[in-house]
Amino acid sequence: MTRHQELEMLESVLLEKLDQVNNALASDVAIMGPDQIRELAEAAEQVVRGAYGQCVECNASIPLQRLRVKPEAVRCIKCQQQAEQMRVRPEYIRYAS
Ligand SMILES: [Zn+2]
Repeated sequence: MTRHQELEMLESVLLEKLDQVNNALASDVAIMGPDQIRELAEAAEQVVRGAYGQCVECNASIPLQRLRVKPEAVRCIKCQQQAEQMRVRPEYIRYAS
């Protein structure tokens, strides 16, 4: 299977997940948590742009192994780690520049 074919497959998995969120009762959505829902929405945007499978920060191709585990991933591992660091340590942003 080519990367392109697998991305198409993962896109449909992702859109199914998004459908589930759209159709779910508020109580089901609560189980997912706001971060996951935000990620799903971001990933859906990437699909619409035709940029699914690319990192939103640095445009690098997100490895398929990562997307298989997490079809809603919108960042490569490096950018994801940076984003998480900033979330844990807000002062990082202030002194980063
Ligand atoms: Zn990246």
